[in-house]
Amino acid sequence: MIRLRFQKDLLIALSGACLASLALLTVSLYSLWTIQTDHVRVSRHVAQLAEISAPGLAASLAAADYATIEKIAAAIKNAPDIEKLEIRNETGTLDLMLQDGSSDADLASLTRPLVAGPDGDAGQIGRIRIYFPDRTASHAGFWWISLAAAMAAGTLLWGIWRLRRALERDIAHGNQLPYGKGPGRGRGDNRSPQRRDGAGQEDIPAPFGHLFDSETHMASLVSEEGHLVDVSKGWLTRSGYRREAVVGVKITEFLADPDREMIRKRLSDMRTEQRPQKGTLRFRRADGSVSDVWFSATAVFMPDGKAYTLSVIQDISELTGKSGKPITAEFSDYLTGLVNRVGFEKMLADLVAGAAPEDRIACLIVDLDRFKAVNDHHGYAAGEEILRAFVKRAAGALQTASLSARLGGDEFAVAVAGADAPSTAASIARALHAATAEPFQIGAAAISVTVSIGIAFSPEDATDSEDLIRFAAIAATSRKAEGGNGIRNFEPQMLASRKRRRETEADILRGIEENLFEPNFQPITCLKSGQIIGFEALMRLNHPEKGLIPPAEFIAIAEETKWIDRAGRQLFTKSLSGLGALSRARGDDRLHIAVNLSPVQLTPQKVAFMADELKAHGIDAGRLTVEITEAVFMEDSRRVSDSLRMLKEMGCRIALDDFGTGYSSLSYLTRFHVDTIKIDQTFTKGLTHSDAVLAARSRRLIEGIVAIARKMDCTMVAEGVEDEEQAEQVRAIGVAYGQGYLFSPPLPLEAALKRV
Ligand code: C2E
Ligand code: CA
Ligand code: CA
Repeated sequence: MIRLRFQKDLLIALSGACLASLALLTVSLYSLWTIQTDHVRVSRHVAQLAEISAPGLAASLAAADYATIEKIAAAIKNAPDIEKLEIRNETGTLDLMLQDGSSDADLASLTRPLVAGPDGDAGQIGRIRIYFPDRTASHAGFWWISLAAAMAAGTLLWGIWRLRRALERDIAHGNQLPYGKGPGRGRGDNRSPQRRDGAGQEDIPAPFGHLFDSETHMASLVSEEGHLVDVSKGWLTRSGYRREAVVGVKITEFLADPDREMIRKRLSDMRTEQRPQKGTLRFRRADGSVSDVWFSATAVFMPDGKAYTLSVIQDISELTGKSGKPITAEFSDYLTGLVNRVGFEKMLADLVAGAAPEDRIACLIVDLDRFKAVNDHHGYAAGEEILRAFVKRAAGALQTASLSARLGGDEFAVAVAGADAPSTAASIARALHAATAEPFQIGAAAISVTVSIGIAFSPEDATDSEDLIRFAAIAATSRKAEGGNGIRNFEPQMLASRKRRRETEADILRGIEENLFEPNFQPITCLKSGQIIGFEALMRLNHPEKGLIPPAEFIAIAEETKWIDRAGRQLFTKSLSGLGALSRARGDDRLHIAVNLSPVQLTPQKVAFMADELKAHGIDAGRLTVEITEAVFMEDSRRVSDSLRMLKEMGCRIALDDFGTGYSSLSYLTRFHVDTIKIDQTFTKGLTHSDAVLAARSRRLIEGIVAIARKMDCTMVAEGVEDEEQAEQVRAIGVAYGQGYLFSPPLPLEAALKRV
């Protein structure tokens, strides 16, 4: 019988190993395939990048304009996948290299000549070499793994086959496998299905073999009466108890006094409500020390029909700060083991009330930037893992705080009390900020997040804890409004700008409510013929008391609150009626209309709305241009790419707005085809700059953009054309269309009707 059991166990083990080898084989073959396709994609992207940046680089090299060369080089270097970049000229006077770190390991490269000179007599004046990761370098490793896995699977299959035959023979000889209840094996064998409940003495099956064998998990099984039935090896190692000393003992014996009642209640809640319980408690080790642990408990029903509680605990004492006060589950955050909002508000109030006159208290509000996007793209589990990892990275700094909490979501709070609170708070803030310097590795993804931190002090900023938290939060929000990723101390004028913001928010809501958003129309003119070919619809908020409010005053807030979507819908409908009226006034149904869409507006629902409106107004989608900025590509989300694809399929044109600011849009052009490039106002204005060097630079940049646009088959519009000379220069460089005060400012519909 023993032999049979051994053979059966071996068969199971061999089958498991065989499956594992097959899985490894599949994974490594799949890796080989993805590496190869990825390599092809990146090589193509790099080639395009070199292609479109070469004309601008060549022109700048010919003019010895090193500032522009550096700007373009930095833009290429910043494109994804680019590790290193070299630009040289033939004479050897320029040798520019941009590189992160120093490792040259496993890089592939691509070289392109830089050619300049008059048509027909152009010559190579330099070259650019772009380095990118050579992902195929790991090919050999995966081939070896595949080979080894295939051989292992083969050998194991053979072993299984042999064993099965032997087993069948033995069974045929009359042996039977032991199933169900039986005498079982000794206590030393941790896979034993037989455990004794010290209280009940019944046999219970335990299907948690690996968990209870685990050295890393602190798992325990508790009977309905609250007695420990079994604990994992890790539980024993970390708690310091011997197995004989704990089996059969009441679970509450291992908890610090204040938590006992809470746990008793939660275990009974768990059974009655049938829902897992999580939280923190104070756990007593064999040596008498007490530490904070995070627990998760769930009811399990065994084949014997009895209910047990399976609980896993994890030591989090290093995360909970130095306060030394026990944090009860009611005040603790299950995710990080820090204090929760209720606990923080209460404890900070105590801290403020108990502070000596010379004591200062600092309150920090710590808010991760754009964390919702992380949740949206990578899922909540990844988001939670980042929050935990962030706390772990910051654990050292949090130890020096009097109080650290997660208020909820991605918002944390820290309090520091004492005469040196300002300096301690500043160093904690720096450490929290530094904790996001490196991306978080979650599964295969390296996710970068940044953090905004606001700090307020008692007694100088506020004397009660509620204001202290509120003001620190205002400082954090104000840091966010400046682009996030940094630290800001509270200043009283933030309250004034907050008031202004509230007013603007009220204006926007009223605008949405009362349909007050309307377009002004700015002509886009053909530089050769002087004919108006279309209009850009620019948003205004026509406030009954304040008059026309320009977009600079409300767009940012409308985007942040996503109210821009509803405002934009009003604008779109009115823009299309305006276009209808303008077309009728001119008797020309080819006039086109351009509208601006910010990233939050690019949703499939919005595109569907636009399609319906176009139909309702009888306007062909080909007459609509959607202006987007590079911010759209930075979102890099499914929603955005789906929306852009839908717009293209409808037949709309896409324009890349504000192009040229630092060439940062360059790398996006290779990945998404746009129909129109709008050269940013600063370059048009730069053409007539009083400093001849700067003027020449703007000229070369526009020449570079024109060269790119030609390669990518895009039309061009120069924005911000204010005088004849600028119009003449952009026309001479090869820009087809212009827009700006020279031709007309944005006009209300009635005025625009008179211009067509
Ligand atoms: P933009 O899309 O770059 O629009 C061009 C801006 O330049 C407009 O400012 C226009 O009035 C101004 N402009 C035109 N010609 C000249 C010129 O010759 N010289 C100078 N100095 N400025 C000129 P506006 O209307 O204040 O719009 C500002 C920004 O607000 C727009 O920049 C756009 O980013 C945003 N915006 C406007 N309407 C909408 C909208 O409907 N939706 C969204 N999401 N954003 C909008
Ligand atoms: Ca625009
Ligand atoms: Ca623009």
